[in-house]
Amino acid sequence: MPLWITTVAIQASKVYSFKVDRKNSFGRPCSQGKRRSRGTLSSAVYCKACAQAITTIDQQLTVNTSFRHTFFNPTGIVFQLGCYKKAHGCEAVGVPSSEFSWFNGYLWTFALCSGCQSHLGWFFDSGSSSFWGLILNKLKE
Ligand SMILES: [Zn+2]
Repeated sequence: MPLWITTVAIQASKVYSFKVDRKNSFGRPCSQGKRRSRGTLSSAVYCKACAQAITTIDQQLTVNTSFRHTFFNPTGIVFQLGCYKKAHGCEAVGVPSSEFSWFNGYLWTFALCSGCQSHLGWFFDSGSSSFWGLILNKLKE
């Protein structure tokens, strides 16, 4: 195993859980942001495509020590997600899956904008807790 994978795995084991597969290296966390402090607690967060209200800033949630997470999907596309407790403007669509889940113990379904059906991220559900991981560059405050 190359050294960088080992290093990332050691760092990630504290915060993230992911599988390292010889065919697909994925789920590599590369940075963690801090919860935003600007805006008021009730400020709305909108879909960038159709301006539908999706959630509010006071729904921001710290998951694994951070609101913001950066992940690669299996095809190498980078996503920067923000975690929200509730997202009334989103619909969870599809059959819950554990495949390539970025959060240990959580199943995911796609999160679509209920206004325009844009893919805004994923809904993560462990059975006892759940949250929305939304792609930050598809949202605007
Ligand atoms: Zn939309």
